[in-house]
Amino acid sequence: MQHRIVVLGAGYAGAVAAGRLAKRLHREDVTITLVNPEPDFVERVRLHQLATGQDLTPRPLREMFAGTGVELRLAEVTAVDVDRKAVTLTAVHRPGREDLGHTDQEHIDLEHADLEYDTLVYALGSGWNDGGVPGVAEHAHELAGRPGALRLRDRLTTLDAGRPVVVVGGGLTGVEAATEIAEARPDLEVALVVRGALGDWLSDKGRAHLRKVVDGLGITVHEHTTVTAVEADRVTTADGTAVPAEVTVWTTGFAVHPIAGATALELTTGGRIAVDETMRSVSHPDVYAIGDAALAMGPGGKPLRMSCASGVPMAWQAADAVAARLTGAKLPHVSIRYYQQCVSLGRREGLIQFVTADDQAVNRALTGRLAARYKELICKGAAWGVANPTVGMPTRRRRVVRQGTESRARARAAA
Ligand SMILES: Cc1cc2nc3c(=O)[nH]c(=O)nc-3n(C[C@H](O)[C@H](O)[C@H](O)COP(=O)(O)OP(=O)(O)OC[C@H]3O[C@@H](n4cnc5c(N)ncnc54)[C@H](O)[C@@H]3O)c2cc1C
Repeated sequence: MQHRIVVLGAGYAGAVAAGRLAKRLHREDVTITLVNPEPDFVERVRLHQLATGQDLTPRPLREMFAGTGVELRLAEVTAVDVDRKAVTLTAVHRPGREDLGHTDQEHIDLEHADLEYDTLVYALGSGWNDGGVPGVAEHAHELAGRPGALRLRDRLTTLDAGRPVVVVGGGLTGVEAATEIAEARPDLEVALVVRGALGDWLSDKGRAHLRKVVDGLGITVHEHTTVTAVEADRVTTADGTAVPAEVTVWTTGFAVHPIAGATALELTTGGRIAVDETMRSVSHPDVYAIGDAALAMGPGGKPLRMSCASGVPMAWQAADAVAARLTGAKLPHVSIRYYQQCVSLGRREGLIQFVTADDQAVNRALTGRLAARYKELICKGAAWGVANPTVGMPTRRRRVVRQGTESRARARAAA
């Protein structure tokens, strides 16, 4: 009997985990099924580029996983039953997907199907978080996912010169979105609403550079401001001020999909799956969770933030732990720490803020064109790393331990 591994979500975390598992385990011993609704790997870190009219390099998952032994299922996961050890898949029908050059035949032929697993790797990522603010869901745009970024792109192209665009949220995504829009469309009136001070988590040098670029692009910054309502043509702030907004882009953080919340899995506040240091669910040992969907602790016992910078090493750790437990090898430990925050400020400017292991800014930052090039390399490297998930690591495949020798192997693995 082959051990059935099912990986949900082919984003940065899921795709890396599936590819790495395939390199770690013998094909005769396991099946690895990767479920994703889109036929392409979506470079989420570039969605602000997509929203401003840039075309992203197509990265078909079939090509990325050709010859690896990973079986791709194009479907949406609609339920996970961790007691029955099965996931429910639903066919994806998306009219207007011709832009991707794919056909519906590539999607699962059944409307609904159940997929059973022995080990589940949950990597469904996150979506946008409307924060429950009135009018956001109806009127605001988002770029947490490809469909949202494409809608924003369409909307921006219909805007005449001089029209106001408001980006709400002064974190990395908001700053990247506002600068990208202002650079691509200098004819628009772009504003950024920030709850604190602009770049208040950065070093002095980083903050000063961010301010310089934002000013240079003509972006109006509303600091210490909270948006309390969004309408079709404005946002309203806590003190009752109306800021004109023909387009509002909402980037105040990410929220996880409700699927995990409907399972018996133990969750943390915010709905992320609680995992141990090997990325294994603390409540269900057959389930691993990685990327934005999981909450793992990093250096100093602080929760890792939702990012590729966390999700990729989480995927390495989960894949190596699954492989070790199945083969009776020693449990590996992947060190997960931060080195830098890489921020694009349009295509010509960037900011690399160096940080401590637990993500606090240090007094060292790279700025300007060099930083923009560095950031570009990081994005390319992240996509390359998905296709090359064992780079720099030994790729020796191990045999899954058969029954009888399993308890001995387990004892070794636990050691
Ligand atoms: C505009 C933008 C810029 C960013 N910039 C950076 C950055 O510079 N650096 C950084 O570290 N992070 C950045 N991030 C955050 C980063 O993109 C995420 O943290 C990262 O993508 C998380 O990886 P993941 O694999 O957990 O989730 P994702 O990459 O979102 O992948 C989740 C996958 O699951 C699939 N999925 C979702 N629901 C279902 C379902 N029901 N059934 C089947 N499949 C499903 C999705 O289609 C997707 O393929 C940025 C995010 C955005 C939106």
